[in-house]
Amino acid sequence: MDFAESPKVKVIRESVRAFLQQEVYPLEPELARRGFVELLPVLQEKRRRAKQTGLFAAHIPEAHGGAGLSLTEFAHMSEELGRSPVGHYIFNCQAPDVGNMEILMEYGTTEQKSSWLNPLVHGEIRSCFTMTEPEYAGSNPVWLGTTAKKDGDAWVIRGHKWFSSGAEGAAFAICMAVTEPTAAPHARASMIIVPTGTVGFELLGNLSIMGHRGGDWASHGEVSYQDARVPLANLLGGEGMGFVIAQQRLGPGRIHHCMRWIGICERAFDLMCRHAAKRELSPGKPLGTKQMVQQWIAESRAEIHAARLMVLHAAWKIETAGVHEAREEISLIKFTVARTMQRVLDRALQTLGGLGMTDDTPLGFWWAHERAARIYDGADEVHVEAVAKRILRSYGIKVG
Ligand SMILES: Cc1cc2nc3c(=O)[nH]c(=O)nc-3n(C[C@H](O)[C@H](O)[C@H](O)COP(=O)(O)OP(=O)(O)OC[C@H]3O[C@@H](n4cnc5c(N)ncnc54)[C@H](O)[C@@H]3O)c2cc1C
Repeated sequence: MDFAESPKVKVIRESVRAFLQQEVYPLEPELARRGFVELLPVLQEKRRRAKQTGLFAAHIPEAHGGAGLSLTEFAHMSEELGRSPVGHYIFNCQAPDVGNMEILMEYGTTEQKSSWLNPLVHGEIRSCFTMTEPEYAGSNPVWLGTTAKKDGDAWVIRGHKWFSSGAEGAAFAICMAVTEPTAAPHARASMIIVPTGTVGFELLGNLSIMGHRGGDWASHGEVSYQDARVPLANLLGGEGMGFVIAQQRLGPGRIHHCMRWIGICERAFDLMCRHAAKRELSPGKPLGTKQMVQQWIAESRAEIHAARLMVLHAAWKIETAGVHEAREEISLIKFTVARTMQRVLDRALQTLGGLGMTDDTPLGFWWAHERAARIYDGADEVHVEAVAKRILRSYGIKVG
């Protein structure tokens, strides 16, 4: 594993950082006050400018309209984009579209690619991913209530989903539904493309999250499938392949998320250090002269550094050995980086005092919205348990 930043990665980092500093950071306080939907026209204009950098949907191969970055190269870019709450959106590599693009690229038919992948990569449409259900524990992904039954030339889908991020304004959903109820648990579900205009697809509303309902991409929807009929050809991959596809999607997806969280940590760290250097407790006595603040700075630096190396190592392992071989590393980074981010954000907020509570910096937004990092993409405990069991099995004990 090479720790040196390649010249290509250096250029990408610098150009993304400069773009965010000039075009995006100045928008952030307004974004916090007015919300995503009101600012959408401005954000769309920023997206048009981001396209000109050649790094729009950069994780997608050039043949499909992206910049063809490898997983590790994109990991570095994801860190840079993570420094702003809308960095990934502006460069069209935001969740859940980033994962849906990867699914379509890997498993989509020629038809599906031309109808859904192409406009998604070019930022003309958005999508959502509907798997989690209010009535069933998302931590047990093989237990789903939503079904898709064949009826002539169509799938008929019935079920109830929530936390469908970005469902408002999405052109289509990828729906995880049980198609083979009698098969082995991991072969029961399939992924099916459902255009959101389909009769029977209903967005019931956006969930209120930490006091905000959000809107458009920045929202988490509750969706009802009421006998939604879509052509059989809307199946992704094969029947019963839902979990295989989900596993493939989640490996690189966790690298993207974790590096985004490192970007959040770096921005929080920068804000903390700037404030510690500038804010005076008395004339000539900045906050940074206090040992407690120094300790927060040193500990944060060490934790961010360690977390970044863990993620880059996991990305390297996925690229060299595959997602299956890297499953332990993928679980380790998921809970380690989410917790690191929470600690770093907390220290930064504390250092900024009252200012940290305002929307003058993105810290408050992240504090509210990134607590969820320990829950989505598999709750921390699921990953902790998986890692511990794998280790203990190698010591010869039965852990289930
Ligand atoms: C902001 C956000 C965005 C999301 N976006 C999407 C999306 O776009 N599409 C989608 O389909 N889903 C999405 N989700 C849903 C997410 O994937 C689920 O919330 C997650 O899988 C956990 O499922 P659950 O909420 O049903 O919690 P549960 O499964 O009910 O678990 C509740 C708690 O139980 C504990 N727990 C669970 N398993 C274990 C265990 N083995 N050992 C010990 N404790 C355990 C954990 O602390 C966990 O937090 C999103 C969630 C959030 C918060």
